[in-house]
Amino acid sequence: MPLPFALNHINLWLLDDGDGVAIVDTGLGLPDTRALWEQIFAHELGGKPVTRVIATHFHPDHFGNTGWLTERWGVDLWCTQAEFQAAVIACSAPGRSTIAREHYLRHGIGAEALERLRQRGNHYPGLVPTLPNAYRCMRDGDHLVIDGRRWEVVVVLGHAPEHAALWCAEMNVLISGDQVLPKITTNVSIWWDRPLDNPLRLYLDSLARFRPMPGNTLVLPSHGLPFRGLHTRLDALRSHHDERLAETLDALGEPRSAAELIPVLFRRQLDTHQLSFAIGEALAHLNYLEAAGSLTRTLDPDGVQRFRKA
Ligand SMILES: [Zn+2]
Repeated sequence: MPLPFALNHINLWLLDDGDGVAIVDTGLGLPDTRALWEQIFAHELGGKPVTRVIATHFHPDHFGNTGWLTERWGVDLWCTQAEFQAAVIACSAPGRSTIAREHYLRHGIGAEALERLRQRGNHYPGLVPTLPNAYRCMRDGDHLVIDGRRWEVVVVLGHAPEHAALWCAEMNVLISGDQVLPKITTNVSIWWDRPLDNPLRLYLDSLARFRPMPGNTLVLPSHGLPFRGLHTRLDALRSHHDERLAETLDALGEPRSAAELIPVLFRRQLDTHQLSFAIGEALAHLNYLEAAGSLTRTLDPDGVQRFRKA
């Protein structure tokens, strides 16, 4: 399905489900995506109905049509508890602008970029216009039986609150969601609601959940092409973050704010959407290093937090 961002597509999956078809992830809740869904229903399902809607996590490209699809087909949404709750919160997002502004100011974002971020506001309700009122709760280790096959729910952390990957040992297929992607790295960010969290630690620890799966597992990611070579990719992700952590620390011989680190870590022009992710990612690496005792954080008289190698 198309996405109107620099990342221009998301992969959604249709699984045979007995007399019907189960949907995994739903696309943005926008008219063009819904028109494409209608074409799929008319031409691709062989007249079969949709049996259920499964969402890996609450981000709008995955969750946007959960309300519409479940209502359209009279079926249940399946997702984890934290993802459903995160979607409900993101749809209302009270007081977000003030707390977000303070967060960005504290990390050295300048007036012009701050204004761009403010104008962008909370884009979530526009991309996820409705939510189901109820859902079927998936928990780590649960098994969903889809077309007679067992899919294990593997909850992985760091990218989203309680992201569900789906693993079918019988077919040797992993629906990895956003947790393992073939080309780009998964966004692991600090947001204003949990400024001192350590999501990069959670993310790297979560990758261990995929290690027991066979090396020739077919991985179905949410962005990019399906691939084999899971363990090679896990190794590459680990080294990528090790390098980023080393680069971050190298740049902190003198104190820098998160905003001052962005040009070091991202050597290209960023649009507003990318800037919010870039500052979040810079902070995820800073918080990781702080928790490891590798750097210190001070609050300077200008109200900006700066980090320096310990
Ligand atoms: Zn995501």
